[in-house]
Amino acid sequence: MKCTSCKKMLVSEDNFTQFKCPSCMKETIIRCGSCRRKSNIYVCKKCKFEGP
Ligand SMILES: [Zn+2]
Ligand SMILES: [Zn+2]
Repeated sequence: MKCTSCKKMLVSEDNFTQFKCPSCMKETIIRCGSCRRKSNIYVCKKCKFEGP
């Protein structure tokens, strides 16, 4: 499992969120705690949707 924004492995990370892409509802977006705090952009692999 990897953060969609920074590609960091989340093995030791418990402060992350996981949700379906709001555009295509197919891809699962995973964001680590630091990307959430920094509001890093994520890009959906399937539909290229970008969101904060
Ligand atoms: Zn991250
Ligand atoms: Zn998508």
